[in-house]
Amino acid sequence: MSFAPRGRFAPTPSGALHVGSARTALASALSVWSAGGRWILRVEDLDAVRVAPGATAAMLADLRWLGLDWDEGPDVGGPVGPYAQRDRAARYQSALDSLRAHGQVYPCACSRRDIELAAQAPHGVEPIYLNTCRDHDPAVVIAHARSLGRGVSWRFRTDPARPPVVIFDRVSAAFTQCVSDEVGDFVVMRADSVASYQLAVVVDDLAMGITEVVRGYDLLASTPRQVLLYAAIGASAPTWAHVPLVLGDDGARLAKRSGSMGIAALRERGVSAEWLRGWLLESLGARDRGSLRASAVDFDIMSVDPAPVVWRAPP
Ligand code: GLU
Repeated sequence: MSFAPRGRFAPTPSGALHVGSARTALASALSVWSAGGRWILRVEDLDAVRVAPGATAAMLADLRWLGLDWDEGPDVGGPVGPYAQRDRAARYQSALDSLRAHGQVYPCACSRRDIELAAQAPHGVEPIYLNTCRDHDPAVVIAHARSLGRGVSWRFRTDPARPPVVIFDRVSAAFTQCVSDEVGDFVVMRADSVASYQLAVVVDDLAMGITEVVRGYDLLASTPRQVLLYAAIGASAPTWAHVPLVLGDDGARLAKRSGSMGIAALRERGVSAEWLRGWLLESLGARDRGSLRASAVDFDIMSVDPAPVVWRAPP
């Protein structure tokens, strides 16, 4: 593989692509193209419950309508495919096996309810895992789960002596998190043998040679976990840029209102691709030079405003 930068957009096809995700897609493409690199599209369709039927095809069509064309992806192929996570399960399993062989993960028999009860977290707040199964004999934990008719999840063993992880972000302010205190040992493989987002994203970004991650601000709090996984695997992490969310004019996150702010819905209301592209480029501080590849020439991800942007409906 060459040393040219590689970036990616990695959407979960859980519904209609909305303005906020389209903006993130554009930011990641412009950033890596501005450095002469390649932009990869990876479909994060691991979680069958979240994947909406037909959403992948609709999402790709929306991105193309906006004028985005990826250098590698599920429909165009490339050297490091497959580009859809559901076709990559064996890779996650072998990463888990290797973490197991190095004692970096352990089995956990706790259900979600067990964890909520142990943590006494208020409803709706992600509970901190109190490392309940960490020091138990793995064989006993596995047998216990089996007796309850369940599988075990596998958790990454965080090191309480490790200094907090500091993320130097190219857009957002530096972010510090002590994963062992603030998150606890986290799941890398779920009890239904589906890899967690944290493991899958690291395995794939590494295998695909990703050198820069540009994604939504809502994922910043996941990044320290991923940094710990890179360190455990002995690989260096990519650079990070978490771009701010797009808010509706009522201040609510667009993700929650993706029906009305969906790209397809806007298109049906007569909004043109040119207008939307212009709005998105302007919101990222980029000059519209006709095509997106041309607009990338003088784009600088570090100049993106870290404050959330408010969606302005077309005139
Ligand atoms: N699949 C994630 C999402 O749609 C993005 C993952 C990433 O960019 O790391 O929110």
